[in-house]
Amino acid sequence: MQAYDTLLSHINGLRIVDTHEHLPLERDMLRDNTDVLAQFLIHYFNRDLVSAGLPERDLQKVCDPKRDLMKRWKQIEPYWEAAENTGYGRCLNITARDLFGIDKISGKTLLELNARMMAARARKHYYRWVLQEKSGVAVSIRDTVPTPLADLATDDALVFTLKVDSFLFPMHVSDFQRTGREVGVEVHSLEDWVEVTRRYIDRVGSKNSPLVCLKLGAAYVRSLRFDKGTRAEAERDFLELFQDSQLPSWRPGTKVGEAFQNYMMHQVCRLADERGLTLQVHTGLQEGSGNFISNSNPTLLTNLCLEYENIKFDLFHMGYPYVMELGNMAKNFRNVFIDMCWGHIISPEAARRALVEWLDAVPANKISAFGGDYCFVEGVYGHQYLARRNVASSLAQKVADGTLDLDAALKISDWLFVDNPKRLFGLDRFPAYFKSKTKN
Ligand SMILES: [Zn+2]
Repeated sequence: MQAYDTLLSHINGLRIVDTHEHLPLERDMLRDNTDVLAQFLIHYFNRDLVSAGLPERDLQKVCDPKRDLMKRWKQIEPYWEAAENTGYGRCLNITARDLFGIDKISGKTLLELNARMMAARARKHYYRWVLQEKSGVAVSIRDTVPTPLADLATDDALVFTLKVDSFLFPMHVSDFQRTGREVGVEVHSLEDWVEVTRRYIDRVGSKNSPLVCLKLGAAYVRSLRFDKGTRAEAERDFLELFQDSQLPSWRPGTKVGEAFQNYMMHQVCRLADERGLTLQVHTGLQEGSGNFISNSNPTLLTNLCLEYENIKFDLFHMGYPYVMELGNMAKNFRNVFIDMCWGHIISPEAARRALVEWLDAVPANKISAFGGDYCFVEGVYGHQYLARRNVASSLAQKVADGTLDLDAALKISDWLFVDNPKRLFGLDRFPAYFKSKTKN
């Protein structure tokens, strides 16, 4: 496997674009009142533990750092051992090994791992160490924007995506008012709300803004099929929220109607289309236990992709398990792009196979290879480690079967990890993050 070694060593040297993260800003990262289990089980692998049989009610106790670490470990040990074969499990073991010198997470190593991780977190510039030095990340696109915008820490190598869900799913009149006031609009009509949306979207991609794209996460709660509807239907839903305006905002069960959601999605798309923005869309597997996977099939976006041809639709998570549906969309639409974020840990094998097949069907300038998609920074390390190996493996297979020569495979690896996402998200306007193409 000489091609694999050559490809991996080249890819290991790249400073890559990380298309998607949920990391807190470094200044907000927990350094106290947390520990390795509380962090590593915030998401992902905790779901594999539940899937392996851990009762949901025990999970909360296991993640409570005020309780004894080893007692909590005992509670999950059989489920941990049952699930550590998954991409999520392997990612954590790789992270423990390469960041903290712990060979395998187990009852024997947990206390030492915890001590080393918490000591490392106490150091200055921890993000820079994990993301830039160890993981070779040039810049990460962080999901959701901290407010106020002016408050951003600039040395974190983070840029941001504007989540559009809040324009589709206000739960209460107070949401309208709070969001509106941030951009100087008092919201009393549907028109006002569209104006609020426009003012937010105007910030995306502008010269000094750290906002680089939009993001839609709606597939967690509804279908990705957004039918066109009349303004009158949407207005009826909108006004209904105002009927409840005397009720306290914590009142559960208030839900905005679907006509409003659809109307607002088309407004968001109209505004994004006029500006040629990139819209990241969650497709495929939903995090958490139990959901309607069919809501997140990327083909449900077909009407939007047809109507708004200037929007670059960056479809997330390999569409897993709708991997080939996503390939079809990217092949058939010039404005649909594949984003493998989260994918290399959902299933490393699915990621390798998908890439092998996509490269037979989809132009290589339409695929972004990596987004960590983690809520705790350490996980990004293990994820990029797997991503680099997966891409090297898929490309080596193409070299072995004679469909690519090695030079072409090397060039494509640069595109997937750097050039494609850089172009798609307009990251050229942050030259500081791309001073050198390689790690050292
Ligand atoms: Zn995410």
